[in-house]
Amino acid sequence: MKQTLDIVPLTSWFDTDEAPLIIAGPCSAETEEQLVATAHLLANTGKVNVLRAGIWKPRTRPGEFEGIGSIGLQWLRRAKEETGLPITTEVATAKHVEEALAAGVDILWVGARSTANPFTVQEIADALRGVDVPVMVKNPVNPDLSLWLGALERVNRAGIKKLAAIHRGFSSYEKTSFRNEPMWDIAIQLKTLVPDLPVINDPSHICGNRELIPYIAQKAFDMDMQGLIIESHIDPAVAWTDAKQQVTPQALYDLLANLTFRHAKSDDPIFEDKLAQLRVDIDKLDDQIIKILSDRMRIVEKIGEYKRDNNVTILQVSRWDEIIHKRTNVAQALKLDKDFTVKLLELIHNESIRKQNEIMNTKPVAEA
Ligand code: PEP
Ligand code: MN
Repeated sequence: MKQTLDIVPLTSWFDTDEAPLIIAGPCSAETEEQLVATAHLLANTGKVNVLRAGIWKPRTRPGEFEGIGSIGLQWLRRAKEETGLPITTEVATAKHVEEALAAGVDILWVGARSTANPFTVQEIADALRGVDVPVMVKNPVNPDLSLWLGALERVNRAGIKKLAAIHRGFSSYEKTSFRNEPMWDIAIQLKTLVPDLPVINDPSHICGNRELIPYIAQKAFDMDMQGLIIESHIDPAVAWTDAKQQVTPQALYDLLANLTFRHAKSDDPIFEDKLAQLRVDIDKLDDQIIKILSDRMRIVEKIGEYKRDNNVTILQVSRWDEIIHKRTNVAQALKLDKDFTVKLLELIHNESIRKQNEIMNTKPVAEA
């Protein structure tokens, strides 16, 4: 997949000073008091860079609170004036874009449901033509990297160069501990395709509960993501939307204070040197692993030929049990995780069976 984004780095539109970008605020603006009071508490933490609040809420079922609407923009504006925090909100139509810009919203975001619909994204992009405002694009509801990248491209082609992606997890039929499965590999693929694109993690919508947020937020930093967007409400228990996942500003402070932000690069030349050496060591070992796997596969092929010529079945359960047993014992003695070892052996075993199957079903050269 070719990436076609023409973007500027985060540091050119946000003074992060190498620190992560922290966006926080309520899921929804509910009342002027709730929003402004929350904003003050968040500003007082000294750890929040941008205030978020949903004004127009995309709800799965009709009849739920669908956002306070345009009036909330004035509340956001007041919160910005009083706290000095830049403000961000979700836009889903051209009209939202116009109103948000007119109200002085500093950063816009495209929600997960909108990203899943190219018509909606195009409408938003068209409304952004000629405007210089940063835009964050949430991943689509479904795990589709192209759709995410496509939405970023549409916005980018409208001339928006201050772009970021928000990783908020993906809907899955299977119920797990998360509201939206993180599927980290999709966010990593996006980072690999567009290395300059800042990726901001949204642990609130991934978790759907307060308890798992610290774990996901730390993992996001470990994965080299540039920031977090976390829902924070002055009184989460009575929040009109997403009550289970919002945290108080004080809880947000504690959570952020306990996270370790990791730098992709260090300025310390000794550290860089050590890292380079360790990477050389890893590269060597990886090459050896590949070579050993290849040697093992050659032997597997020979066994396949032998079995074929002597009419023996491919799978011999007792032999497989013996391999698993012996290898996991050795692995444990060498401090390798047992689950990991079993998974690795299974992967190798499956490939061996596939190879032998291929051999068993082709005639020996002499007969062919
Ligand atoms: C939100 O941020 O409140 C929201 C609606 O998120 P998402 O688009 O990720 O569901
Ligand atoms: Mn929400």
